[in-house]
Amino acid sequence: MATICLENVTKRFKPNEGFCAVFNLNFKVKDGEFFCLVGPSNSGKTTTLRLIAGLAKPDSGQIYIDGTPVNDVPPSRRNVAMLFESLALYPNKTGYENIASPLKVKKVPKEEISNRVMEAAKLLNLEHVLSRYPATYSGGEKQRVALARILVQHPNAYLLDEPLGGLDARLRITTRTKLKELQKELGQTMVLVTHDQEEAMGLGDRIGVLKEGIIQQIGSPQELYDRPLNYFVAKTIGKPMMNFFECNLRRQEDRIQVAHQWFRVDITERWLQCRADCDKEEIILGIRPEHIEVKDKRDSDEAFLATVFITEPLGSKTIVDFQVGRETIRVLVPGDIELEINQSKWLLFRKEKLHLFEKDSQRAIFQ
Ligand code: ADP
Ligand code: MG
Repeated sequence: MATICLENVTKRFKPNEGFCAVFNLNFKVKDGEFFCLVGPSNSGKTTTLRLIAGLAKPDSGQIYIDGTPVNDVPPSRRNVAMLFESLALYPNKTGYENIASPLKVKKVPKEEISNRVMEAAKLLNLEHVLSRYPATYSGGEKQRVALARILVQHPNAYLLDEPLGGLDARLRITTRTKLKELQKELGQTMVLVTHDQEEAMGLGDRIGVLKEGIIQQIGSPQELYDRPLNYFVAKTIGKPMMNFFECNLRRQEDRIQVAHQWFRVDITERWLQCRADCDKEEIILGIRPEHIEVKDKRDSDEAFLATVFITEPLGSKTIVDFQVGRETIRVLVPGDIELEINQSKWLLFRKEKLHLFEKDSQRAIFQ
């Protein structure tokens, strides 16, 4: 069991360059927590894990494991195990030998090795591949053997770098469930990094969103979904993605309105309630596809007419792309609503679910 804490951690690969792979990272992973970092390629995810594992050294800042500063502690003594993005199984070793390899290096007695390998193999349903070579494994088996190889080390914390990346969609979901069960069963600290927000949402007790080496927000999946602190987090979290529209804030007498070519929304009450603070005019309005109502009749003067362009039935829900002028508006409707292409409907935003971001700073104007 372990806590992991990063304090103002910065890493540059070229000492005299301004570019930082990660900049001023601050977060604390609680004992037994499943913590996910999500961000696009090159946002610093692997670097963060390598720093925690001790495979890279921060230029500044401090890393603590279980409260102890570890900047000068070598990887072998940190007792954290990392699953690398590349997996890299030994092709000429059997499943058993692959899983046992880190214990052999540490000169663990043979019987103990056997016990731990069998335990991990059982946990991950791998008994049938122990005597086979990696070339004969399916993608999921490769992934689980790599995972077993870190489980047998009985580390205090697990660091997983895109562990489900190489799997096809179906297998990714079953392995994801397995991983979550495993983490709950072991009750151990895990840090997983991924570019896939669905994976982070499904697995993480808490999630950190990384952009260009900088953490944008940390919170529970629901917090990030409901209250993104900026445009980037809003865009990253949630599928189908939030809709965004460039709008202007209009202040008239004591009313505040969001104005767009095709719609206007009076947000005065929400603005006052949230004590919003923004003197800019150019803003981005964000609304999630499930927060738009679709109606046959115009029962509000803020509803606007839109045309069905594409429908994508998912069974219980349907994703509908409406068009209004040149804008596309994505709406999630119950699967049993019948809509035809080119049909016109009235759309209405659920006001209490609107997000507003300043166009220049991209920060959320209210929560
Ligand atoms: P991610 O895992 O999110 O894709 P990385 O942590 O691998 O991102 O990389 C973050 C940034 O640091 C990238 O711009 C990458 O090119 C750079 N980087 C990573 N490792 C090295 C290295 N060993 N030398 C130089 N630059 C590196
Ligand atoms: Mg990476």
